[in-house]
Amino acid sequence: MLTQAVKNFISLIYPNLCNVCHQSLLGDEKVICSSCTYKLPKTNFHKENDNEMEKIFLGRFPFERVSAFLYFQKGGSVQKLIHKFKYTGQRNIGYFLGKLYGYELKDTDIIKQADLIVPVPMHRSKEKKRGYNQSEVFAAGLAEATSLPIDTTNLVKTEKTQTQTKKTRFVRWENVETVFSIKNSNLFTDKHIIIVDDVVTTGATLEACARELLKIDNVKISIITMAVAS
Ligand SMILES: [Zn+2]
Repeated sequence: MLTQAVKNFISLIYPNLCNVCHQSLLGDEKVICSSCTYKLPKTNFHKENDNEMEKIFLGRFPFERVSAFLYFQKGGSVQKLIHKFKYTGQRNIGYFLGKLYGYELKDTDIIKQADLIVPVPMHRSKEKKRGYNQSEVFAAGLAEATSLPIDTTNLVKTEKTQTQTKKTRFVRWENVETVFSIKNSNLFTDKHIIIVDDVVTTGATLEACARELLKIDNVKISIITMAVAS
């Protein structure tokens, strides 16, 4: 149990303020106040087949369903939240948003037909530096609210770097290729997997993950992200 002094100290460092409007949180409000939660720019893509986000992936690999929780707009509340979540160590923001979306998705087909959630893995050195993988934190919130199992160890990220003796720094950077691999294919055979990421822009990372997973027998893929660039 924390003593009152410790609690006071913690609330000094982490004052109980809304992460969007910075007003005090009231009652059982957590992370974001009710008013800002209500105003979040939701896509509602999970209610629509052939939604706007499916266009990003159409023709690149076969998928079942694709959805994002929020629209990411420059200067908007979602950018603010995601920036805090990714760069200031506030993992509770990602977990909160994951749970919020999970409760909305709970009784929908996208969740009912899926077997498990697999967050996009982060390279271990980067995860160590940041302290956590943001896709995994959002996915943990989704898993908690939907009761779907989550696997964070079977899909891994490795980086293949080509020989680079005479290349400039820029070219060297370009030659770092992201590669994903599966440790044990049997674990995912016959599964409908929801791949989870934070913000989708080009979809290249999700495509690389999906392609690796689709090498496994009878795997189906759906995608859920925290936000989509609009
Ligand atoms: Zn607020």
